[in-house]
Order: sequence, then structure tokens, then C-alpha cells
Amino acid sequence: MTIRLYNTLTRRKDVLTPIDPARVTMYVCGPTVYSRAHIGNARPAVVFDVLRRLLRHEYGAAHVLYARNITDIDDRIIAESAATGVPIGEITRRTEDWYLADMGALGVEPPDIAPHATTSIPAMLAMMETLIAKGHAYAAQGHVLFDVPSFAGYGALSRRPLDEMIAGARVEVAPYKKSPADFVLWKPSSDDQPGWDSPWGYGRPGWHIECSAMIAESLGTTIDIHGGGQDLQFPHHENELAQSTCAHDGAALAQIWMHNGFLNMGSAEKMSKSLGNIQTIPELQAQGWPGEVLRLALLSAHYRQPLEWTQDLLQQTRKTLDSWCEVTTAFASCQEFSAVDYRQADVGVVEALTNDLNTPAAIARMHALANDVREADQRRHPEAEQIATSFRAAGLLLGLDLKPRPVAIVDSQERARVDAAIAARNAARAAKNWAESDRIRAELTAAGIVLEDGAGGTTWRRA
Ligand code: AMP
Ligand code: ZN
Repeated sequence: MTIRLYNTLTRRKDVLTPIDPARVTMYVCGPTVYSRAHIGNARPAVVFDVLRRLLRHEYGAAHVLYARNITDIDDRIIAESAATGVPIGEITRRTEDWYLADMGALGVEPPDIAPHATTSIPAMLAMMETLIAKGHAYAAQGHVLFDVPSFAGYGALSRRPLDEMIAGARVEVAPYKKSPADFVLWKPSSDDQPGWDSPWGYGRPGWHIECSAMIAESLGTTIDIHGGGQDLQFPHHENELAQSTCAHDGAALAQIWMHNGFLNMGSAEKMSKSLGNIQTIPELQAQGWPGEVLRLALLSAHYRQPLEWTQDLLQQTRKTLDSWCEVTTAFASCQEFSAVDYRQADVGVVEALTNDLNTPAAIARMHALANDVREADQRRHPEAEQIATSFRAAGLLLGLDLKPRPVAIVDSQERARVDAAIAARNAARAAKNWAESDRIRAELTAAGIVLEDGAGGTTWRRA
């Protein structure tokens, strides 16, 4: 099926035509590991995880190569270490571990390649030397700067006039710059800051050069898809594009540039650490929201639209997942059903995703499918099992394992209440107080909870 994706560079939906369909390449700018990620940071991780699943569906799992970098050298990391006294290596290691654990809880699979800035310094130095040799960068006072006026294509991605870009980027006016728009590729480090030896002295890279160097090193000169949050359009991606194009004699860095919108907290305010309005994934889990609910909530809006993050959204999403799992639970005993994989996904869901990753349309189609299954099942129609299979497979394509489960998704409070009631009933049974044990069971039945006594103890599910 043809995949169409909105390309920020062309400002239209472009057909994805991989340079090599046997090796489809995607690079997404990953986290700067200075503090624990929030649910807003998870939006690009989840969105591009869905895209990766779609690419695998279309081209085969073995033919998709996905890289997401770790920015483990940055002024914010140095500042965090200075403020807390925790060594830099410890901050970056634990933050990366948290990131992988938190994204894993949302069903995000690790990328195929996770290049780290600190282990890609030689590639960055080589690219800087190339840029200097080609007249697109220059060294000055221990710095290396990209010469923005040397690249006529600068601004093509974010489509801003140069003066606005200078103001927008709050580019430092420094005496060693030839033009105020020039940006830093390398800067000096003091003795107490991390750094590497270079032809321009002891120093460290600026942020933008790392992605250009790591894309070339890990995936190649021109990749198929490059993604990230919309705040990365400028200056980060504009600068990556300039560096790579100039280093590679005009070859494009990426065919398609994709950017996700922000996750907002009330009145269109972006969730961000600096605004102090963040929620981390463990915090949300502790409030009783399972990773699957968070994932589906993140997919409820189209990725380019803003997403308002509210309690109401989470409650609605939980209801949706509960109703979907009820559908699969009815087919728990079907053999084909348990061996299902994403390649059997319903064509309507696939179609929605091939249209610029239209997840709201995919979710609407899932609701329709769930209804179809229920109806066919009521009529005892043989088709029911087949629809249920493509429904569950489509869930996998979205990264949701809608496996039949005895216990529907419940919040932790409800779970604690039921567990306490079961413990009380066990105590009553041990004391041969059958009246009390029956009373507790009846109370739970009235609340829609069915108990099942088995060899391994008592389990429960929603009626
Ligand atoms: P950072 O670690 O700050 O560099 O951000 C990592 C990624 O998260 C980048 O792609 C950002 O664009 C993205 N991001 C940060 N905040 C939000 C938000 N509130 N909503 C959506 N994406 C975000
Ligand atoms: Zn990047």
C-alpha cells in the first residue's frame, strides 16, 4: 500500500519512495539525558514507533532500520551535574535507563541503532574538517562555526527569513562570528568540563553536528525519513540540513521530514520542564494509568495536531481499551487468535495509517471493528473469529497487545479493594465462616466482579 507522509520540507503529503526498499531508513532525534522524560517527550517516541511498525508491515521487519540517538553531552547535563554533585556519567546513564524503561512501559520498542554523541566524536570532527575544507565552516578562537551565508538553501525547511531566524534562535552575537546567524559546531571546554582534543583545541561539540555525523555514520548520506518534535524544525533540523547538505556536496539529508505537535497541559500550554507542568510516566502509572492507556491516549490525536492532556482523555481511553479487551476476551479459546501477528491487521486500520499516520481514523476503525465482532458473535456468524483476528492484529500494529485477559484494565485503587476483599474472604473460609465468605462473594458479584477459585488461589475478572 502507498504510504503518504506530510513532509515539512515540501509542506505537503509526499509518497514515501524508499531509496532502497530492502533497507528503509528512519532517524529520530532522541532525548538529551539530563533529567527524566515526561509524557510530552513520549509523544515522538510513540508516534515514530507506530510509523516503524507500519514500515515493517509494508516492507518487512528485516528491511527497516531505525536509529534514535542519545544526546549525552550538553550544557544542561553539565549544569545538572554542577547543581546536584552527581557525576555526569551517572546522570546520563541513569537517565537513559529511565528513558528506555519508561518508553518500554508505553510499548515503544528500542531502536535498531542508538548512537551516543560521546562515542561519535571522531565522526563529528571528520565532518567539521570536511565543512572547513569545502568553505562552509571556519575556526575562530577555539570554536568552529558553520558559515550560514555560504549555504544558499539555509531556511528552506523552516521557511523563515534570515533576520527572523537570527532573532528566533537567540543566536549569540560573538566577536568571533563572521555573520550573526553562524552557529557553533565546536566550542572550547574549560578544564572542569567534559571535552575532547581536537585540531581546534580541547572542547566539545555543539548539539546540531552530532545528528548530522551520526546519521551519516549509522544510516548513510540520504535517509528516507527524519523525525522529531516540531520545536526541532528550527534551529536544530535547519542546521542539520545545512551541515549534511554542504558536507555531502548537495546530497539531501532526508527525503521526508516529519514533526509531531506538542502535548499540552490546559489552555494550550506545552508540557515542559521549564514551565514546571510535567508528569512523568511512573507518576502517571502510580495514579493507576497503565502504559497501554497512556500509549493509546498519545495516539488519540493526529500527530501533527496539539494534544490536550487531561484526566478526561485518560478516563475515556481506559473505557475504550476495556471495551476492546472485552471483544478479544470472548475469543480467548480460538487457536488462530492466540497466534495472531501484526501482518494480519485489518486493511482499514492499515489504510488509515498509510494516510500520514492518521491514528484518529485508525482508532475509529477499531471501534467499528469491535462492533462488527460483537454483532457477528451475537448472530453466531462464523465471520466473527476472522474479524476478531484482524482486529487484534491491528491492535498490534498500533503497539497495543489486546490479548484476552481475565482482568480488564482497572485502576490500582479498584485492584487494591478487590484484593483486600479476596483476602478477607480467604480468612473467612479458613475460619470455616461460610456465611461471611458467601457474603463477600455476593458483594463483589453485585459490583460486577466475578471470583474464580482455582488450584493456584482465587483470581477475578469483570463480569
Ligand atoms: P528533549 O529531551 O528536550 O531534547 O526533547 C526530546 C523530544 O521530545 C524532542 O523531539 C522534543 O521535540 C519532544 N518534546 C518535548 N516536549 C514536548 C511536548 N510537550 N509535546 C511533544 N513533544 C515534546
Ligand atoms: Zn537531531
